[in-house]
Amino acid sequence: MSHDPNCLFCKIAAGQIPAKKVHEDDDLLVFHDINPWAPVHVLVIPKAHIPTLADAQPGHDALLGRMLGLAPRLMKQLGVSNGFRTVINTGPDGGQEVYHLHMHVMGGPRPWAKG
Ligand code: 5GP
Ligand code: ZN
Repeated sequence: MSHDPNCLFCKIAAGQIPAKKVHEDDDLLVFHDINPWAPVHVLVIPKAHIPTLADAQPGHDALLGRMLGLAPRLMKQLGVSNGFRTVINTGPDGGQEVYHLHMHVMGGPRPWAKG
């Protein structure tokens, strides 16, 4: 599995930097965002280092599908019952800050800090 030693989220996936984990399996890790925009704000990441959604290959389609499919189950588990938002920022114009693919999943009562 590809790993970038200088990547923040690869370090979180490897357990080198602590994070508040909510789900982990062979391919995916989910943890709470350190600077939440909403009452519940988690990040779903592949363990493999894929820098952006634009770098995903057709072979990653199943992985991307699993990231999306996990979102409603996690929100239910975290007590979000009135809807949520899923966001993937891609590249400079997409406002991406951490270059390891991640999906924001945000829920809970409004108002939210961002968006
Ligand atoms: P982006 O702007 O790249 O879509 O989002 C990056 C997200 O990663 C931001 O919401 C930011 O708060 C979060 N983040 C940055 N560094 C850390 C960290 O060390 N730990 C955790 N849990 N989240 C982080
Ligand atoms: Zn990475």
